Amino acid sequence: MKTMYSIRVKNLTRTYRVQAREIHALQGVEAEIAKGSFVVLRGRSGSGKTTLLNCISGLDQPTSGEVWLNGKAISQYSERQRVELRRKTIGFIFQSQALLPLYSARENVDLMLRLAGWSYQQRRIRTEEVLSQVGLQQWLDHRPFEMSGGQQQRVSIARAVAAKPDILIADEPTGELDVATSRQILHLFHQITREFGTTLLVATHDPLVDDFADVIYHLQDGRINGEL
Ligand code: ADP
Ligand code: MG
Repeated sequence: MKTMYSIRVKNLTRTYRVQAREIHALQGVEAEIAKGSFVVLRGRSGSGKTTLLNCISGLDQPTSGEVWLNGKAISQYSERQRVELRRKTIGFIFQSQALLPLYSARENVDLMLRLAGWSYQQRRIRTEEVLSQVGLQQWLDHRPFEMSGGQQQRVSIARAVAAKPDILIADEPTGELDVATSRQILHLFHQITREFGTTLLVATHDPLVDDFADVIYHLQDGRINGEL
C-alpha cells in the first residue's frame, strides 16, 4: 500500500518577478513528511523558508510542482476549499504573535473557533481546554499586553491548535523569545505532536530545535540540501 504522507512536496519552484528581475526563491524542493512528525526547516535568511511554508499552506501559489496535504493535491482545491484548509486543517503560528490586542486570551482563541464554524457551547469548552493545555488556565481573561512574550506565544499556540488542525505551521516562532522561554515553547510543540498526532512544520534558525525535532531539513538557495 502507498504511504499517505501528511505533507508531500514534489519538485516545487517559486519564482518571484520583480520588474525585469527573477528571484528563484524555491528551485525544486522535494519532501515527504509523515503524520505526527516534528519537522524543522533551517537555513539562513533568504533561503526560502517562508516561501516554502506559504506554498505548503496555500497562502502562496508555487510556480511549478505540487503539494499534497493528507494525500490531496492542493492545486486542485477551489478557493473555498483553500479557505477551509486554512481554517480547519492547518494552524498557523508567527513570530510576531499577531494576537488581537484588545481581546483576552479566551477571546483570541474563541475567534478562531468561530471562523472554523464551532458552536457557542463547543467553543466555550474547547477554549478553556486548550488554554489549560498550554498552561494558561489562570490567564483566560488577560489581554496580550498583560502577558509576557512566552505567555503570548502560548496563546498563539492555543489559538492555532484550537480547531484541532492536522498540520501546524510556525514561522520563526521563537524568534523574539529568550532561551529558557524558547525551550518551553519547543517542548510544548513536541508534546503536541506526541499527544495529538499533529504534524508540525517549523521554520527557524534556533539551534535549540535539535533537541526536539524528528527531522531537520537544511534549506539553501531554495533547495533542500541535506537532512538530519
Ligand atoms: P526566508 O524565510 O528563509 O528568509 P524567504 O522565503 O522569505 O526566505 O525568501 C526567499 C527569497 O525570495 C529571498 O531572496 C527573498 O528576497 C525573496 N522573496 C520573498 N518574498 C518575496 C516577494 N514577495 N517578492 C519578491 N521576492 C521575494
Ligand atoms: Mg522567513
